[in-house]
Amino acid sequence: MKHRLMAALVGLAAALIVMSPALAQGEPRTGGATVSLAGQWLRQGQAGFVSVRGEGIADVRALFQGRLYYFYPDGSRYVTLLSAAVDTEVKDQPLQVIVRYTDGRTEQIETMIPINWGNYARGAVMLPAALYSLLDPEVNRAEDAKMANIISRFTPERYWAGGFVQPNPGEIVGYFGATRLYNESYWYTHTGLDTSMPEGTPVTAAANGRVILAGALPIRGGYVLIDHGWGVYSGYAHLSQWLVVPGQWVRQGDVIGLSGNTGRSTGPHLHWEMAVGGVWVDPQAFLELGLTLEPTT
Ligand SMILES: [Zn+2]
Repeated sequence: MKHRLMAALVGLAAALIVMSPALAQGEPRTGGATVSLAGQWLRQGQAGFVSVRGEGIADVRALFQGRLYYFYPDGSRYVTLLSAAVDTEVKDQPLQVIVRYTDGRTEQIETMIPINWGNYARGAVMLPAALYSLLDPEVNRAEDAKMANIISRFTPERYWAGGFVQPNPGEIVGYFGATRLYNESYWYTHTGLDTSMPEGTPVTAAANGRVILAGALPIRGGYVLIDHGWGVYSGYAHLSQWLVVPGQWVRQGDVIGLSGNTGRSTGPHLHWEMAVGGVWVDPQAFLELGLTLEPTT
């Protein structure tokens, strides 16, 4: 009995040693790469910046929450934008980093990412009868699936430079992450940031990128989605007009459409949404990341 208890304790101790400490400390690892997260934690529905440093690195990938992330060379380090879905469980979540070296060796580093509470609001929305069809779960499921499929793709090039700019300054009428009860029957978590603006206001690209979608969707209405590379996308919804076509290159500040009140919308406003690594993230928090990256060559 004593032996078994001792064996269990030794096993537990070994397991604790194998599990790395929270990577916020960014402790160097002897003979290997160092992984560090900018900041102390990831909040639910937020993106974070992860760096890997080491000698002779050829390639870095990581698994987090069942999603694969590619790292990109940036000066002397490899970087990626990691993201936590808005419904990620609040606890330390494992990040498995796989480093491949130029001499053919590979190293797997497992570290824990603390997930912090998003503290998003709850609210209620009443839709007029004309929009009841947009509460159909199948309509929502189809649009969610279409969007999830697109935003989970990684473009290896980074198209943006010098950060992102909020395309919809003005009075905020809806925050990211808010769980809304529609017509006392249907719950939906808000994927973007809403600001009110008169119909027909020019809507500008948050950063350089390539247009992936431009057209009408049931829920989002008139919609433009821009791929910024590295798994980062920005979307602009409820447009009265879209002025770009898929495949078109846009620069930060270019007018891509005119605001409106189309789709599941109860008044003229722009819904701006940002996706990173296949999940929607808080656009305001994304702006605050302050991405300082070397220019792409
Ligand atoms: Zn919205």
